[in-house]
Amino acid sequence: MVVVDDAGQIVLVNRQTETLFGFERAELLGRPIEALIPERYREAHPAHRIHFTASPKLRPMGSGLELFGRRKDGSEFPIEISLSPLQVGQKRLVSSAIRNVTLRRRAEQKFRALLEAAPDAMIIASPDGRIVLVNAQAEKLFGYVREELLGEAVERLIPARYRAGHVGYRTAYSQDPKARSMGSALQLFAQRKDGTEVPVEISLSPIATEEGVLISSAIRDISERRKTEAAAKLASERLLSALESFHGAISLYDAEDRLILCNSTSRALFAPAFGGALLNVTYAELIGACLDKGLFGAVEDAGVFKARLLAYHRNPQGTLDLALSNGRTLRLTSRRTREGGVISTAVDITDDVMHEAELHKARSEAEAASSAKSEFLSSMSHELRTPMNAILGFAQLLQRDKRAPLTPAQLEKLGYVLQGGEHLLRLIDDILDLSRIEAGRVVVSTEPVGVNEVLEEVRQTLEPMAARAGITLTVGLSAGQEPPQVLADRTRFVQILINFGSNAIKYGKPGGRAEISVETLGDRLRLVARDDGIGIPLEKQDKIFQPFQRAGQEAGPIEGTGIGLSITKRLAELMGGTVGFHSTQGLGSEFWVELGIHRSAPPQRSDALPALSGSSLSSEQGDSFLIVYVEDNPSNIAFMQGVIDELPRVKLVAVANAEQGIEVIRALRPHVVIMDINLPGMSGYEATQRLRDLPETRDIPVIALTAAAMLGDRKRLEQAGFARYLTKPAKVAELLETLEELLAR
Ligand code: ADP
Repeated sequence: MVVVDDAGQIVLVNRQTETLFGFERAELLGRPIEALIPERYREAHPAHRIHFTASPKLRPMGSGLELFGRRKDGSEFPIEISLSPLQVGQKRLVSSAIRNVTLRRRAEQKFRALLEAAPDAMIIASPDGRIVLVNAQAEKLFGYVREELLGEAVERLIPARYRAGHVGYRTAYSQDPKARSMGSALQLFAQRKDGTEVPVEISLSPIATEEGVLISSAIRDISERRKTEAAAKLASERLLSALESFHGAISLYDAEDRLILCNSTSRALFAPAFGGALLNVTYAELIGACLDKGLFGAVEDAGVFKARLLAYHRNPQGTLDLALSNGRTLRLTSRRTREGGVISTAVDITDDVMHEAELHKARSEAEAASSAKSEFLSSMSHELRTPMNAILGFAQLLQRDKRAPLTPAQLEKLGYVLQGGEHLLRLIDDILDLSRIEAGRVVVSTEPVGVNEVLEEVRQTLEPMAARAGITLTVGLSAGQEPPQVLADRTRFVQILINFGSNAIKYGKPGGRAEISVETLGDRLRLVARDDGIGIPLEKQDKIFQPFQRAGQEAGPIEGTGIGLSITKRLAELMGGTVGFHSTQGLGSEFWVELGIHRSAPPQRSDALPALSGSSLSSEQGDSFLIVYVEDNPSNIAFMQGVIDELPRVKLVAVANAEQGIEVIRALRPHVVIMDINLPGMSGYEATQRLRDLPETRDIPVIALTAAAMLGDRKRLEQAGFARYLTKPAKVAELLETLEELLAR
């Protein structure tokens, strides 16, 4: 405490003054007060002093001015001064209380340093909203320099539209100030000096100071975060809309198997079982609830069922179909996610299932209908054949009756009956054949077939027909050609060539030519039937291989059924071959079939010899045996003959069809029969069955010699009663072994 008179002379100092300034009391008394002031302020000080003395009033400490005192040793220290006028008698004195504020100033500096170091913009304001302090971050964020802000209302930093409201908030806050952290749900904005706005987060806290409570606010620019949030929101909205646009239920489970995402179909699916919030519910809980509510149809054992679903969920492979109690069927498809969770979709496949069932039903109905049709056709043809045979038989008897011969007019009419009857019989046979092929009941067995032999047979069959029609028929290989072998079913191969050849004659011109020839095309052999006849109109050509298509001949004089070519095409395809044709109306046609050529050399007798020499049948001594071989393929017969010729005590009789075969076997009673299966007319199966039914042939063992494909039908082979089955081409050793065994019995 220092008291000075109105001339500025010290009149009184106390003990603290001596300690504070380092002077003895005596040194100070009578000296001007400027002795205690740093030199740089001394000159200006008397003016302040005079100003105060002129209008003296109490001035408290902390006016905000930075004041310094000066010690005797010249050092300075920050002070605060309060002045009060004193009247002592006539004398006007001024008493000044002086406080050393060095410590406080230091604390303040520390506080400022802290403020500057804060990561956020800091603004400290007085309770009435005036800015007292700002840090560098605040300058940066708002675009102001410090001096522009100090003393201003904080509202300056807020967009105009929020200002009025803010005053209210601020007042309320300063009445009940307490710390409020960032991250309130409020969307706050700050305004920069340039007028632009920034989204911010603000935390508030009251600071108690000597000047009262100040409000400190930390302000954080969150524009980046908002941008990221907006991007994340957009991405999640897109994901959700994608999930929603999926027509089934889709659910995503995390690594702990908790549901973390699903679409509305999925929610609707689980809703009846799991009323509450679905998110975070585990898969096991969901399934359990669905089971309890009976959502799944026909579950025999809930435990097993649940285990099955969980197993699929944990290790999803393929799909899982689930029947619901409401009659619908869901197809579940789950996949593991990279995060170790599972994404699971469920699609309602009820309609597909129903459709499939309908298709299945339709298919079996169609199959049943088709087989019924074949059955009907086959029994109908049998039924028709019997009376037809009677009609034809008796018509022929009438025709030849020598005792009561018919008149020429009657004979002519009878000729028409016979002709019509024969046509009808052919039609019946063709329909039967076609229906068998369509029902898949025709099995062809392909084997190497000598083309020359076949062509010879075809020529013999067609010759009379060609002669009647006045057509020159040429059949055969051109000179010098090696006779090739093709892979075919001999009977069916002949049938194809006869169909082509007879058409060439039928649709030829009187005096014209028909020719069947052979061309080699790589590993295929093409057999062509050519004529110079009427040809086929272009517009009729595309349906020529379809059944009952007669290509304009329907009303014509040439007899036919329109089935031949369709049978031909199907047979060729069954043998792995193809058919084709060229035709020009008025000029002629050529039809061909292509079949695979059999390249390997036919079995030589020399191959057979080593095997034969060891056989017991190769010795001259012992019983003699007879074998009947029913086979329509001459090259097979030749091979068999070659083998048997080496066995001195065995004789072979070959028969070309089953009907004759049965008669020969009944008459000769051979020791063994070797039976081909695919025969023209009666099949080897049927023939063997007949032999089994006849007492005189019942015990003769029959060896089936058949294409490997036929072995698939073992049941049929067994039923027919074969003693053994051997595959074509026959292996000599195997054949011998079988013969030895059967003949030794
Ligand atoms: P079909 O001879 O019994 O009528 P196909 O199925 O054998 O039956 O032949 C179908 C039709 O193809 C015949 O009706 C005939 O119009 C025609 N066609 C077949 N071959 C010849 C050919 N070589 N020349 C002219 N037309 C033919």
